[in-house]
Amino acid sequence: MQPQNLIRTCSIWRALEIVGDTPTLLILEASWLGARRFEELRTRTGLLKALLSDRLKRLVVAGLFEKRPYCEAPPRFAYVLTEKGRDVYWTSLMMLAWELKWGGDTSKIAVELTHKPCGKRFVPEPACGACRATIDATQVDWAEGPGVGWMAPLYSRRRQQRESSGGATSLFDQAAQLMGDRWSSLIMRSIFTGVTRFDEIRADTAIATNILAERLQWLQSVGVIRQRIYATAPPRQEYRLTRKGVEYYPVLLMLLRWGDKYYVSPEGPPLVLSHKVCGARLDAQVVCSECRQTVEPQDVSFTIHERVPVPELIAV
Ligand SMILES: [Zn+2]
Ligand SMILES: [Zn+2]
Repeated sequence: MQPQNLIRTCSIWRALEIVGDTPTLLILEASWLGARRFEELRTRTGLLKALLSDRLKRLVVAGLFEKRPYCEAPPRFAYVLTEKGRDVYWTSLMMLAWELKWGGDTSKIAVELTHKPCGKRFVPEPACGACRATIDATQVDWAEGPGVGWMAPLYSRRRQQRESSGGATSLFDQAAQLMGDRWSSLIMRSIFTGVTRFDEIRADTAIATNILAERLQWLQSVGVIRQRIYATAPPRQEYRLTRKGVEYYPVLLMLLRWGDKYYVSPEGPPLVLSHKVCGARLDAQVVCSECRQTVEPQDVSFTIHERVPVPELIAV
């Protein structure tokens, strides 16, 4: 029996407590693109000074960045990713792949990725470490792991950040909105694990009814879930993932992997995934669509094309 207001222990939620925040995602993105110093990070993210400084402080405490002095007087620091910070890279690549396919043209710049070892332009794909096949959400089984239990999701007073991110160069606009709202990601987790009815989702996520209704509405408006009527008298609905929603799965998968690596309880992971295709325990990796090799951060180069804004028509 599920205790009230608690949710299943979940590495995704633990990971979201750190990276489920739009400004944080913008900072990570800026860092992948080479920004190190405060001013560079500020220009690239478009965040206000106070907000940027607050998030950088948190990211240093959480162990994703370390501060390295580059000037003594006045004291100045560069923000360099630690291994823990670098490991979020694969989640970001999956966000980027999803954004390129589904984000529409809301993102302000276009990006092309080149895989240096094979020299080709590529799309990052999630693959099974054992059989190397591309992972589809429908081919993954899950079972409770040794670390399963209950935890309290911390209530956040932060308002959902829906407006387009402020950065002049945002690579993942819609993906960052989804990931940046922890409740939405938690709802997606529930639906992915087969929890589809309103009351069940409420119990599974411990989200207040009004917030849940509002988030479900929003997830429909961005097109990742749809409502399906399964009984007419009285009318009852359930929520299903659209194709766009199903393809968001690798983002959560890589986030789960990161959470399992850094926030696992001594007993082990709360959730164990297996790949139905080959039967192996799922070790999800990001591979190059062209040569199928595992993608490492240092092997990727970005070519960024700033999109030229379409001039507004002026009536004469
Ligand atoms: Zn496999
Ligand atoms: Zn390649």
